[in-house]
Amino acid sequence: TRLPIRRALLSVSDKSGLIELGRALSDHGVELLSTGGSAKALRQAGLIVKDVSDHTGFPEILDGRVKTLVPQVHGGILGRRDMPAHVAQMQEHGIEPIDLVCVNLYPFAATVASGALPADCIENIDIGGPAMIRAAAKNFDHVTILTSPEQYHSLVESLKNGGTLLSDRRAYAGAAYAHTASYDGMIARWFAEQAGEFLPPVLTLSGERSELLRYGENPHQQAAFYHDGTKRAGIATAQQIQGKALSYNNLNDTDAAFEAVSEFDAPSVVIVKHANPCGVASAENLEQAWIAALRCDPVSAFGGIVAVNRTLDAATAARISEIFTEVIVAPDADAGAKEILAKKKNLRLLLTGAMPNPTAEGLAFRSVAGGFLAQSRDAGRVSEKDLKVVTKRVPTEQQMKDLLFAFRVAKHVKSNAVIYVRDGATVGVGAGQMSRVDSARIAARKGEDAAKLAGEDKPLTAGSVAASDAFFPFADGLESVVAAGAVAVIQPGGSIRDQEVIDAADAAGIAMVFTGMRHFRH
Ligand code: 5GP
Repeated sequence: TRLPIRRALLSVSDKSGLIELGRALSDHGVELLSTGGSAKALRQAGLIVKDVSDHTGFPEILDGRVKTLVPQVHGGILGRRDMPAHVAQMQEHGIEPIDLVCVNLYPFAATVASGALPADCIENIDIGGPAMIRAAAKNFDHVTILTSPEQYHSLVESLKNGGTLLSDRRAYAGAAYAHTASYDGMIARWFAEQAGEFLPPVLTLSGERSELLRYGENPHQQAAFYHDGTKRAGIATAQQIQGKALSYNNLNDTDAAFEAVSEFDAPSVVIVKHANPCGVASAENLEQAWIAALRCDPVSAFGGIVAVNRTLDAATAARISEIFTEVIVAPDADAGAKEILAKKKNLRLLLTGAMPNPTAEGLAFRSVAGGFLAQSRDAGRVSEKDLKVVTKRVPTEQQMKDLLFAFRVAKHVKSNAVIYVRDGATVGVGAGQMSRVDSARIAARKGEDAAKLAGEDKPLTAGSVAASDAFFPFADGLESVVAAGAVAVIQPGGSIRDQEVIDAADAAGIAMVFTGMRHFRH
């Protein structure tokens, strides 16, 4: 059912479209109330308008700081028409219902951009406008709230049909709160700037600043850390037990490590450098997992970030503290582990209290010039039932386990990602190359280097399985993982040359499975 509009309050700074809207409302018999400048503009166009001050019996005072902040206005907006007590009180106090509120706010951003003095900027902080917008949006059951000239056209169409629908009013209400939130966000940012602080534009919408960071990715960049209010177990909710303050890069890397280790059910360790894992392993206990993860690339692990998915025990803590480590993140740590780590004054220990659910929904952001991109986080994951064996050779049971493990690691490695795995541990990680062949070769070379360090004559990738985060567009990538010694491969499939790649796998006598899901990570 449509709700008719009998009385409207128009109070806008941006007067575009105002006359047309006012005329359409008038034509449909709607009584117009308006504030100083808006009323003047409507009158000049020949429309009949009642000043809010005449309506309320209270003048605009304090240079316009108080125009509409009176019960006649806010009662008229907020009163519930379906509650006899509200209706009675409104009658008792002579408050007449206002069915439509059309407000846009003092041009704070434009004033700041014009280089105005601080006092001018302050004067351009709208007070009554946001109050009316928020009141009208709250009472969307009975009231329509317009906050942008772009909405006027559809409102006029609704008028022609007899009024607004509840679904329209709810949508306008949501837009209204977004409008006031971003408006206050701009003001908050200006205050931060005045105080010599930095407040990123995006997160002022919903983010709560946890701390200012010393600097960003580099010393000449400013940075701050925000909580998004979701309380998801992880970096934002972690408790720092010891060590220096975390830097921007520490936080970014620690997050990458903890999100990756949360993928695995068995006791697991992830070592991260520059947001990419350089060693990942699952084993019977954390200590074994640490040994296996470190073996993959002990050179890169120096100065790394270590994440574990079990309570950190003393034996594992002792092993980890044998090499220089920046951060350890764990759901918890026992007393023995804490005692050992306490000797490393600079090492940061973060305890999250719990492991996050890796398949939980959430948002991921990144900035582009003049804006930002938002997407749902990559919560996808494949299990054995999703896999399609495409080669003559079928993976063994152990290979199947390793393939799934490798693909789950690939999800947390920057694209192009090629990962070699043996017995539940990475033995070569190729990250972030512009060509998949390069990633395959780099990972293989790392397997050779690691073998030398471990005193083994064969590269660690010999007899391994390999994962590719996206399909092989040509057979050459597949051929290079075969050259590295991989005997089974997991990849999404879906290339127009899949058959070529399958033929190459069959020619090499290896097994290959398709996942149907890719994990680009840029
Ligand atoms: P007008 O040009 O009609 O005089 O003023 C319109 C502007 O005043 C709108 O941007 C509206 O948000 C704002 N406004 C309306 N009521 C109040 C109030 O009580 N206090 C302040 N500071 N601004 C108000």
